[in-house]
Amino acid sequence: SLADRHLRVGIVGGGPAGFYAASRLLSLPGSENTRVDLFELLPTPFGLARYGVAPDHPEVKNCEHKFEETARDPRFRFFGNVQIAGSTPSPDPASPDTVSVPNTHPSSLAATVPFDALRDHYDAILLTYGASLDRPLGIPGENTLLNVLSARTFVNFYNGHPYHSSLLAPLVDLSKLDHATIIGQGNVALDVARILLKDVDALREYDVPEPVLAELARSRIRRVDVVGRRGPLQLAATTKELREMLSLPGVGFDVDAGLLDQAAQDVAAHPKMDGARAKKRAIGLLQGGSKSSLAESSRSWSLQFLKSPAELLPTASQEASAPTPLEGMLDSQVVGAVRYVHNELVPSSSSAGSDPSTMSARATAKTTIEPTSLVFKSVGYRSIGLPGLPFDERRGLIPNDQGRIVDPSSSKPNVPLAGLYTSGWLARGPTGVIATTMFDAFATADTIASDLAAIPDGKEKRFSAGEEFLIERWRGGKRVVSWEDWERIDRVERERGKAKGKLREKITSVEAMLDVLP
Ligand code: FAD
Repeated sequence: SLADRHLRVGIVGGGPAGFYAASRLLSLPGSENTRVDLFELLPTPFGLARYGVAPDHPEVKNCEHKFEETARDPRFRFFGNVQIAGSTPSPDPASPDTVSVPNTHPSSLAATVPFDALRDHYDAILLTYGASLDRPLGIPGENTLLNVLSARTFVNFYNGHPYHSSLLAPLVDLSKLDHATIIGQGNVALDVARILLKDVDALREYDVPEPVLAELARSRIRRVDVVGRRGPLQLAATTKELREMLSLPGVGFDVDAGLLDQAAQDVAAHPKMDGARAKKRAIGLLQGGSKSSLAESSRSWSLQFLKSPAELLPTASQEASAPTPLEGMLDSQVVGAVRYVHNELVPSSSSAGSDPSTMSARATAKTTIEPTSLVFKSVGYRSIGLPGLPFDERRGLIPNDQGRIVDPSSSKPNVPLAGLYTSGWLARGPTGVIATTMFDAFATADTIASDLAAIPDGKEKRFSAGEEFLIERWRGGKRVVSWEDWERIDRVERERGKAKGKLREKITSVEAMLDVLP
């Protein structure tokens, strides 16, 4: 049993997965002597609950109260502004400190601890550092034209993520753009569409940073197309998000009614289809249209089905292959249109073919070129590997068997790597709401606890290798943010918010966060 054992668990990543796992580990019977240390790249905890979940969904962020409770447990320690990095083979064996960082925007302000150093100090290490990259579209123009953004960048921007607080302007000037196209039809796509179309005054009471509110107030975006490769029955967005879009004051909804009617017939004909009731509700909702009529609305959005982007083009009239006239150089660097391949639905290879909800998209010969002035890629997040650990490049996650990290390329592909675990989006891929993440994290914590209970007496790490190893060895003059430090940042943000009549005024740079600390 765990009781009387002095076991130490290190968690990398302070999002919902990390906090839920910590709370579970510390609430299991016999965990009195278990200690959990959590390392978070940013000075701020909570991951995508703070920097992903939309600001006008504050109730979703209530999970943070539970995390705060966990953080106040004396058996828990928070090390913010600490980046865990993979060790790379150093050319000079005398200086093994060379590290490579599994993040696209390594913060020079964060202390960097090599993963190997953690391994010496913990009986189990749980990796929950999430998904910090985007899935690419893989089409021409995606990386070369201006005004092509990932939804992730924009989400981070409106949520005040310190690595993205100034990425948008002046690169993208919303005051000069009127038409946005979002590739992908999941909830993230609808969050982006809603923030673009919602009256900015309806956002002021939440925690959208003031510079973001100013940028949104200047926006001239009047039309947002939300494009998917499959049909209404395969829509990834949930009914709640769709309803919210359809209720936006002054925003009309445009859709191919024939496709919705067909989908309604299909769902009626297949009452046993996966999620039939929810799909029926969603289709009915879309058939009912928007509260604000399309004809009378100054802003609108559309759901467009059965279309895959094949190429992003500089202008509506030019094929990408056409020579660019010198005088048009500036324009030609900016996205002006999308060339789509139209799809049809075919039974997917993995299903028997009788369930329309699992159909796949297959390209037809039909293509169209449609104008736009801003493109968001919203086809999913992906994780990044930690050098020295297995990583599934295709799926963008750490291979695992119920949370135990495995190495499919080794001679024993199903044997877990001792003491190494993963959970959350890093383990499952970038799908699932916070509740899904919670159940996964609880299950992984249970697995960890049962594995730890099997460690022979006397073989635990027993706090041995120096409590303050991090500060002594790896801080390198950087400020490590404690939980009390975060509480101070939190208090300052709330106070600044209160003065402006909003939930909080987020501090949007690491420097400024550290500045408010004693
Ligand atoms: P994350 O929340 O991403 O946490 C990972 C943490 O690891 C981050 O804090 C990161 O800074 C840290 N980290 C990264 N690299 C390192 C490193 N090298 N060292 C140390 N730390 C590191 N769910 C809902 O239930 N409702 C919603 O309304 C909702 N809206 C969403 C909107 C968006 C735009 C997105 C993207 C997701 C949304 N979700 C929503 C899903 C929810 O956010 C996820 O289920 C959940 O956050 C996943 O938790 P996680 O801990 O696996 O990852």
